[in-house]
Amino acid sequence: MSAGVVIVGAGQAGAQLAMSLREMGHAGSVTVIGDEHHPPYHRPPLSKDFLDGGLAESELALRTEEYYRDRGIELVAGTAVTSIDRGRNEVLLSSGRVVAYAHLVLATGARNRQLPIADGGADNVHYLRTMEDARRVRHALERAQNVLIVGAGFIGLEFASAAARRGARVTVVEAAPRVLGRAVAEETSAYFAHRHAVEGSTVLCGCAVDEFRTDSRGRVTEVRIGDRVQPVDLVLVGIGVAPNSELAEEAGLVVNDGIVVDAQLVTSDPAISAIGDCARFPRAGAASIRLESVQNASDQARYAARRICRADEPIADYGEVPWFWSHQAGDKLQIAGLALPTDSAVFLGDPSSGRFSVCRFRDGFLSAVESVNSPGDHLSARKLFARGARVTEEQLRAPEFSLRSAAAGGTTQAQQERTSA
Ligand code: FAD
Repeated sequence: MSAGVVIVGAGQAGAQLAMSLREMGHAGSVTVIGDEHHPPYHRPPLSKDFLDGGLAESELALRTEEYYRDRGIELVAGTAVTSIDRGRNEVLLSSGRVVAYAHLVLATGARNRQLPIADGGADNVHYLRTMEDARRVRHALERAQNVLIVGAGFIGLEFASAAARRGARVTVVEAAPRVLGRAVAEETSAYFAHRHAVEGSTVLCGCAVDEFRTDSRGRVTEVRIGDRVQPVDLVLVGIGVAPNSELAEEAGLVVNDGIVVDAQLVTSDPAISAIGDCARFPRAGAASIRLESVQNASDQARYAARRICRADEPIADYGEVPWFWSHQAGDKLQIAGLALPTDSAVFLGDPSSGRFSVCRFRDGFLSAVESVNSPGDHLSARKLFARGARVTEEQLRAPEFSLRSAAAGGTTQAQQERTSA
């Protein structure tokens, strides 16, 4: 078979790209090479429903193996791509096989950052990224009584909820002054800190783990946080991820905290694209960014498929609206748009009702909406951003304002007409 599209990484982005290529009529070969031993699966449940047994392993698969087979998508599992020969348009696999490509797409994802504290290789210090990680940690959670979580980001806090609900004593240690500090407004952080406290977790912000103390079997039994020493039988570290960009770097592609791509998701080699968690892409009027979300992986995959299938037609730059979700402490958080830590915040709705949104503003205009148990607000915000509408803080504060009508083109327009009259 002649060289077709070769995809490195069988995660969310790699699988979606293969599916979209076939849906869009790509007739050439499609080969997806992944170093994990499973067909592509959903990662988000690994820190949510999978932990409490709400979802079985078999329910995590993105598609059945037959799905790929029926569509002529070759899935090569348990095999890493070890190098790229850009001169010959070939990749070398850990099995020794060489695969030629017409176009290569890097969808290598990211891996967990490691805590820079010696744990002596203890088997009760866990990280959570893969199905194997989740299996191990779920098993450990069944017996754990004292759980320590390092990092109050999404994964750390979702895990805290799962552990607290099982009746474990949970302590979360976060170096930053507040939980979810990189992702949401202070108001949203405060709400979730309170919700986790109600669930029974102790959340310690502005401090760090100084020492793991191990027993003769090499298991961590105590942890020192400043002057505080507490017993522990399970440690979960969730301190962020680093992009898997070494393969690209060794092949001489431009890399800078992610594989650098242009506005059409093409790397510094026109025969190679990069998508998903591993890709750093430009945004109109803003700094380039790398996003870690299902939306980003899926939308970039669909975009790359469209670009590959319609190679002769001009295509607008990639510019999908970012969105994200997290389930924790019995609440559903959904974020539309992208805020900077310095963006201001205005409540829409009453936080004491447990259903509200925090609207973020930059330079006077809406930049993101963080919705708690308010899926309607979230969907409206996505529509609003997708149609490029600009909402000011003054408009949002008006008593008659509704995100829904603004998304439909109503309120903001009406208000603008009134203002200019
Ligand atoms: P990945 O899904 O990581 O896939 C990349 C794959 O490439 C991996 O299997 C990797 O092993 C493989 N690979 C790397 N290098 C090579 C190589 N050289 N050869 C072969 N294979 C290679 N996002 C949300 O939007 N909402 C959530 O609630 C949410 N929850 C999450 C919970 C957890 C526990 C985790 C881990 C992530 C969560 N995410 C969530 C993030 C989301 O899952 C990721 O952003 C998404 O999976 C990224 O897709 P990807 O394909 O870019 O990377």
